[in-house]
Amino acid sequence: MNPDLPVETISGIGPKRAALLENLNIRTVGDLVFHFPRDYQDRRRITPISAAGEGERVTIEGEVTASRMVRLRGRMSLAVVTLRDATGEMQATWFGRGFLAKSFTRGVRGLFTGIVGKYKGPCLKNPEYEILSGDEEDLLHTGRVVPIYRLTEGITQRLLRRWVWTAVEQVADELEETLPKDLRARYDFPPIRAAMRTAHFPEEIAPAQTARARFAYEELLGIQLGVLSARAARLHEEKGNRHVIDGRILGTFRESLPFALTRSQERAVSDILGDMASPRPMMRLLQGDVGCGKTIVALHAVAAAADGGYQTALMVPTEVLAEQHFLSLRTSLEPLGLWVDLLTGSTRGQAEVRRRVARGEAHVVVGTHALIQEKTQFHNLGLAIIDEQHRFGVCQRSTLVEKGLSPDILHMTATPIPRTLAITVYGGMDISVIDELPPGRVPVKTRRIPPGKIEDLYKYIVGQAAEGFQTYFICPLVEESDKRQLKAVTTHFEELSAGAFEGIRTALMHGRLDPVEKDEIMRRFKKGDIDVLFSTTVIEVGIDVKNATTMIIEDASQFGLTQLHQLRGRVGRGRDQSHCFLLGSPATEDGKRRLEVMCATNSGFDIAEEDLKLRGPGEFYGVRQAGLSDLRVADLIRDVRLLDHARRDAQKILDKDPLLAAPEHGPLAVLAKRFESLNA
Ligand code: ADP
Ligand code: MG
Repeated sequence: MNPDLPVETISGIGPKRAALLENLNIRTVGDLVFHFPRDYQDRRRITPISAAGEGERVTIEGEVTASRMVRLRGRMSLAVVTLRDATGEMQATWFGRGFLAKSFTRGVRGLFTGIVGKYKGPCLKNPEYEILSGDEEDLLHTGRVVPIYRLTEGITQRLLRRWVWTAVEQVADELEETLPKDLRARYDFPPIRAAMRTAHFPEEIAPAQTARARFAYEELLGIQLGVLSARAARLHEEKGNRHVIDGRILGTFRESLPFALTRSQERAVSDILGDMASPRPMMRLLQGDVGCGKTIVALHAVAAAADGGYQTALMVPTEVLAEQHFLSLRTSLEPLGLWVDLLTGSTRGQAEVRRRVARGEAHVVVGTHALIQEKTQFHNLGLAIIDEQHRFGVCQRSTLVEKGLSPDILHMTATPIPRTLAITVYGGMDISVIDELPPGRVPVKTRRIPPGKIEDLYKYIVGQAAEGFQTYFICPLVEESDKRQLKAVTTHFEELSAGAFEGIRTALMHGRLDPVEKDEIMRRFKKGDIDVLFSTTVIEVGIDVKNATTMIIEDASQFGLTQLHQLRGRVGRGRDQSHCFLLGSPATEDGKRRLEVMCATNSGFDIAEEDLKLRGPGEFYGVRQAGLSDLRVADLIRDVRLLDHARRDAQKILDKDPLLAAPEHGPLAVLAKRFESLNA
């Protein structure tokens, strides 16, 4: 059977069920066989009820003799079901799921897997269960190692297991081998057809896991071949600019630095200058927490470009940031004899600026992303620096190349990226990491504030304002479009301004304000004309107000870890001790954990790893865009080791066969193609 046929060709699947399967991203028969089990259960050993000992994990096969729903305090309910087999009777209970009592009518037979506890005698608490039909089909579901799948509403294990069985029977023998023999041998991976059967319907659990790993590996290898071959293609290009890196301007710049670079800054500078000196186009990601000094590093590149007579474009996500960067770059670069211009939608005298850029009189131009997309003509653009790139999406080099430009590209990001994602989403780029802060920085202190202490906190803020320090007050507006929440934020602001914060200067900022208003508020805040800025998360990532030393985050557990960390990065920028106060009581364990992590560490990398564990990769920036959220098999958390192997193997394969042209690499070329667009 052709694996591309729709799932409806499997008997038992009609339009309704096909629609449900779409929730699992299953549309074709092939999708069905690539929906691998999330777990396996050994059902060869059925424990007789009389032998089920307390505390043991058992599977029993029993018949329902009675069932009832018990109402508990609150609005909770409990389902209590009595089960019998030839050896005795026991209970099964489901807490909070009283409605289940209805489906277990007398005479229903099923398998129940769980840990034996006590409820008026031995009892399985919240067991996983499967109802048996008593026909021959039960052979698929009992007395063997059975696959347990990720499900969706309306689809049971039993249904899905049967469909997968049918699909595997029909397509397994038509699958073409993808992995060359030597790779399979290296990891003891079975050939594809056997692997497909074993991964779903194994005789033992261990080989099933190897079989699944085979497919995960295959997918990761495809990604790595895709990104690494894009990278190899770039490294073979000779069209890039060959910059001078020992020129006068760079030399003067280095000498004029008022401080010594940290070791990781030095390393990043030498990575970047190395790229620039080579004729290959640079495509580097400079990653480091807010405030670690990326800008200084990037200025080395600007100076080097200028030494060879090349212009630099610095692109940032918003006008406020453009202005901030413009001012700071001008201060650093003018003494070197470089002309810096600002070009945004609201810049006055745009025509004049454009003329200077076109003639090459402007050495550096700072602007929003539109800078390179619009009508701006460069005289000789040699370097494009893209700051806070997570706001843009990965800038495709191809857009620049299409414009006939082939500058070296340096992305800068303050978003910590877990290593596994870095080598997949950004796998085709070179990466430099700055993992230390300049000396003398005072780490931000983070604390949770219980509801009873809020008034004290407000008093503290007023006191801070009297001393001239400013505060960010972040309100969780999850969607800027949510009117009701916006009203809540506004009310909160108004009440506090007329209450606890009466007499100090407050302002409110949110995404619904027009850009001019937003800019105006940010400017006033930077000038120190606002003591407490209430804001949704729209305040800019890179905003740098040294005098703002306090951040309050309302209902903090509503935010993801990465976001909390980024919000916090807006304080702690000066020499004074900064504080971050987290309000609200988390409703979930994860929420609680997030706040704990925030209080425990200031390290962006630790936070990113933790965030990856809590949320999975789909939520990370770039993952969806890169198409990585629909990885069919691999799990970027669980399969870290496979990923490392895949990366190394991909590199070795490409070293020998850069174009994957060898016949035995044909299927690999197809795999790679799926991920080719990753930051090409
Ligand atoms: P980022 O862009 O990574 O957020 P910046 O480049 O804006 O960080 O640097 C933050 C501040 O730290 C700036 O005021 C900068 O001058 C200062 N700084 C950068 N590197 C060093 C260093 N090695 N020693 C001391 N101060 C530094
Ligand atoms: Mg910055």
